[in-house]
Amino acid sequence: MDTCIFCKIILKEIPKYYIYEDDSVVAFLDIHPTQKGHTLIIPKKHSDTFLETDDAVLAHSACVAKKIGKALKDAVGADGVNIITNNGLAAGQIVSHLHTHIIPRFIGDGLMHWPGGTYSSGEEQDIAEAIKKSL
Ligand code: AMP
Ligand code: ZN
Repeated sequence: MDTCIFCKIILKEIPKYYIYEDDSVVAFLDIHPTQKGHTLIIPKKHSDTFLETDDAVLAHSACVAKKIGKALKDAVGADGVNIITNNGLAAGQIVSHLHTHIIPRFIGDGLMHWPGGTYSSGEEQDIAEAIKKSL
């Protein structure tokens, strides 16, 4: 992907503060950290979102996220950590190369969780059935 910014980062065409690298993933500091130390893990093989990525790569990324999540939490003295992926524009994905955010969190840091809604009568069951059917 010639035009993908994260592919360029994998090729070291753009200077970054790299945290970790192995055969299938690279991790580096996010350019606009939500909290200091905000890290991104990306697969070396381009895929747009989590949903199109090889299972083995996802499994490995999760293990690396665990390792970096622990290290980052200790390094900055965080109380918690968000490990998330945004998938698709509607979900807040701006860069179309799968990336896992690792964001250190602090009690009272003021970042809001997304709001919780409610189901109307019968709706919860219908949605659960529709998802199960689609699996
Ligand atoms: P998302 O909204 O999930 O697509 O997040 C994209 C993330 O990539 C944002 O947190 C950006 O700050 C980060 N980002 C975009 N360009 C760069 C870059 N050149 N170097 C490091 N992080 C970047
Ligand atoms: Zn890419």
